[in-house]
Amino acid sequence: MATSLEFYPLAENLYKTGQAEQVLEMIHNSENRTSCPLLNSVSIGGSRIGCTQYEKRGMICRLFTYNYTTDKHGLRKISACKAMKLAQPDEIRKTNEILKEKPIGPRASGYYSQLQTIDFIEGQNLYPIRDAIIMAIENVLTYYHYKGDEKE
Ligand code: SF4
Repeated sequence: MATSLEFYPLAENLYKTGQAEQVLEMIHNSENRTSCPLLNSVSIGGSRIGCTQYEKRGMICRLFTYNYTTDKHGLRKISACKAMKLAQPDEIRKTNEILKEKPIGPRASGYYSQLQTIDFIEGQNLYPIRDAIIMAIENVLTYYHYKGDEKE
């Protein structure tokens, strides 16, 4: 889950490079709802496997597997998705033991509270990554529609 705000730099870059409408259409047409629509999982013609927007990826992508959260008792736990918890339960348990003793890496909630200083409501709303990316692109397109064309 991610905020739409963290994908605004990506959306802005897509707009400025004239790709926003095309990427939005690709996401809407994609039948794959289980992984991020910006993930290139198959190498075609030598294309690089991985994130197609790596330089402009969202905050969650930058923090993933290297950040922790705290539970309601203030106990530190690694931020890991369900798939990771199922695949590597021992590693998750060991990491949580270490985190009990000392913090390692950034605390995700600290970064998310910084987003709330940009937009208090949207900084708290969490969506599936696909939806967060769609919202960011649509909002950037709407903004420039009314403001005027500023493509490079
Ligand atoms: S989740 Fe983030 S890093 Fe992964 S493909 Fe999507 S935008 Fe890129």
